[in-house]
Amino acid sequence: MNILVLNCGSSSVKYQLIDDTARKRLAGGSVERIGMSGATLSNTRFDGDEIKIAGEIVDHTVAIEYILAILLSRNHGVISDKSDIHAVGHRVVHGGEAFAGAVLITDEVTKTLRENIELAPLHNPHNLRGIAACEANLPGIPQVGVFDTAFHQKMPKKAYLYGIPYALYSQYKIRRYGFHGTSHRYVAERAAAMLGKDLSSLKLITTHLGNGCSMAAVDRGVSVDTSMGFTPLEGLLMGTRCGDIDTSIILYIMAKEGLTMNEAGTLLQKHSGLQGISGISSDMREIIAEMKNDDRKARYAFEVFTYRVKKYIGAYAAAMGGVDAVVFTGGIGENSSEVRTASCENMAFLGIDIDEAKNTAGPKEKNISRDGTRTQVLVVPTNEELVIALDTAEIVKARQHA
Ligand code: ADP
Repeated sequence: MNILVLNCGSSSVKYQLIDDTARKRLAGGSVERIGMSGATLSNTRFDGDEIKIAGEIVDHTVAIEYILAILLSRNHGVISDKSDIHAVGHRVVHGGEAFAGAVLITDEVTKTLRENIELAPLHNPHNLRGIAACEANLPGIPQVGVFDTAFHQKMPKKAYLYGIPYALYSQYKIRRYGFHGTSHRYVAERAAAMLGKDLSSLKLITTHLGNGCSMAAVDRGVSVDTSMGFTPLEGLLMGTRCGDIDTSIILYIMAKEGLTMNEAGTLLQKHSGLQGISGISSDMREIIAEMKNDDRKARYAFEVFTYRVKKYIGAYAAAMGGVDAVVFTGGIGENSSEVRTASCENMAFLGIDIDEAKNTAGPKEKNISRDGTRTQVLVVPTNEELVIALDTAEIVKARQHA
């Protein structure tokens, strides 16, 4: 089955066409600057053929038209007819409490997604636009929603309730949801395969460090706690997001600087994190480069970042009553040996001890713990698109056999 996997943002659509049987990416790319001047589509085919085209891409429907046109094109395409796309899988950020797994998109589901817009105002409206654009361009093709929140829906109440009046949970559904669920699930499954063990026998701490960063305690296959919360702002330090913060600080800054609610939100979302502390960049590569140049604030940013990962490792080992493996993924987790070393420093008491030779060399997917250690430290490149394609294919096939 060929599955078109879509990740629709406000002004961009990222896509991949994946053959689920061969687990092969046939083509992929992105449409950028939708609704703005200078909109482009960039496509890379499985054989390395690359093409970038500019166009007047006024909305998501036109973006999907462009994607289909390139997938069908004689010179750069991979399919000969629209009917070669058998299903569409959407990455949907917020499923609220309604979805604990992937679902076939029906009128009922889009209605629930609309009801959840308040929970994810920056993301869910664009997913809905993408769904409508596919209905227009690929009528009759089944569409499936795969939710970032779904994997964390089995968290116990003690992990997801905040210390605020319970009525606010009942009334507004204010609770921890957690995000990056597709990635945490994928790397947990890969980790079990790498260790040659059943996921249901393992206590794993999965650490997704990209522009957004989150960790999860995966106890025998179930996410029992995770660091992102009601929104993706909580938890670890991120590229531009503050992560854990004393909430009184927000009120204090608003009063001191005369900020509106929106301005305070922007400060915490866009001007904090690595960027905020270093004043240099939200990009970990630049932070590390400047730290090596003895930049004081770049070092603070790096240290706050890695110290927080370390604290969550300790917290989640405590939550699960032990840990068999810590798994690193995401752009930073997969690529930065420095971040992995600093995050796991001085944790031999938990059986965590990194072998620097393995950490700094070797394949992308690897076990970097010293031989004979009790707790394994693994690096696993994430592949959220593959999970979305496999989930989508599973739901569509089940429907065909029903
Ligand atoms: P997103 O969350 O947007 O999917 P990624 O998972 O691609 O982002 O991660 C982006 C982050 O990965 C950036 O902070 C970037 O600096 C970091 N990164 C990529 N390569 C390296 C590297 N070699 N060393 C350190 N950080 C890296």
